[in-house]
Amino acid sequence: MKILVIDDDTFICRLLGRQLNMLGFPDVEQYEHASHAVHRLESRPDEVELIFCDLQMPDMDGIEFIRQLAHLGYRGVLVLVSGEDERILQSAERLARAHRLRVAGTLFKPVASDQLHRLLQGLPGTSQDRSTTSASYSAMALAEAMANGQLINHYQPKVDLQSGALVGVETLVRWQHPQDGLVYPDQFIPLAEDHGLIDDLIQVVLQQTLQDARTWLQAGHPLQLAVNVSMDNLVRLDFPEFVAEAARAAGVAPSLLILEVTESHLMSNPQAALDILTRLRLKRIGLSIDDFGTGHSSLAQLRDIPFTELKIDRSFVHGAWRNSALRTILSASLDMARRLGMHTVAEGVEDKDDWDYLRNAGCDVAQGWFIAKAMPADRLLPWLAEWEQRRLTLAASPG
Ligand code: C2E
Ligand code: CA
Ligand code: CA
Repeated sequence: MKILVIDDDTFICRLLGRQLNMLGFPDVEQYEHASHAVHRLESRPDEVELIFCDLQMPDMDGIEFIRQLAHLGYRGVLVLVSGEDERILQSAERLARAHRLRVAGTLFKPVASDQLHRLLQGLPGTSQDRSTTSASYSAMALAEAMANGQLINHYQPKVDLQSGALVGVETLVRWQHPQDGLVYPDQFIPLAEDHGLIDDLIQVVLQQTLQDARTWLQAGHPLQLAVNVSMDNLVRLDFPEFVAEAARAAGVAPSLLILEVTESHLMSNPQAALDILTRLRLKRIGLSIDDFGTGHSSLAQLRDIPFTELKIDRSFVHGAWRNSALRTILSASLDMARRLGMHTVAEGVEDKDDWDYLRNAGCDVAQGWFIAKAMPADRLLPWLAEWEQRRLTLAASPG
């Protein structure tokens, strides 16, 4: 892998180069001027796969360099390095992402080798096993897929942060596509929403969840079941009856169900949504405000809707332990939820640092790759057996 390191400080530049060499990356080019790196990239842009760039540089600073990279159509990965205030670093990262650059993360100077090592391990393309197809599908194909049972549920565990006990799962739907393999929801949920298929989709997803829940219940695990709905789908006034009846038919207590509600665009009929959500609560079905802190998941919704759970968006969770702005937002959210008598769930718990931090911050439940990725139903109990072992070591560690 060819790597560029750009820093006006010769010492830092060489040091980072050496650290990369020691971690098994021999092919590192060093630049003290970002403009020279730009010339280098102009001639052979596709050769470079990874760039480390300082923000504070005299001739061309990191922000200008980001703009140049976007202009060149750089397709490799970028890591921002700085000795500056962490909020500046975060803004630079956001800016780079807004330019559609692939940012692997940010590092503080002087760069600690273990931090560097961790970042390199998590490089995009190595850690994520998603299919990268960006095929677009027709509504017809999706409707057929639903009819043919090609939509399958995966389940991601939610565990209690104090005890480590499994408390429930979130259902995440996938399309087992005959040609393209596993297709993720971002590629078909918007399609379903735009073509009037979302109602059918939630029925398929819910029925499947309840069937799987029954199996787990029979094995002695009364798990909470979180199912996603977007608020603008809540237009059928008999939706609460449908959900309650489906639960009854499957022999699952309605109180085990939690609907994770998001609002993707402006609601067409807010009264209907409020009517439906309130009646779901009267039927003892839980309501979670999903992706809290982003977009429309706002304080106004907390005021208006009887949510029972606050699910903090992963953009406020992962890495909060080392980012004081995130820590402030996170602890204020946890505090607010507590005062409103709501349960708190943190999504995007990706490593032990995230776990320890949330545990100490008093969050109730964690969900994320540190615990497990979403998995097919028949993997859940084997995973649980492994988790029970891991959980003991986690409980024993000081955190
Ligand atoms: P979401 O509800 O916010 O779901 C969490 C997403 O984060 C999932 O992606 C999950 O795989 C991913 N995730 C879990 N742990 C981690 C982690 O530690 N780090 C990171 N970076 N990501 C993590 P997925 O499965 O691709 O789902 C994407 C979105 O699709 C969901 O976001 C949800 O809004 C929507 N979705 C999924 N299933 C359904 C469904 O049945 N109905 C509806 N309406 N929407 C669904
Ligand atoms: Ca969710
Ligand atoms: Ca979310």
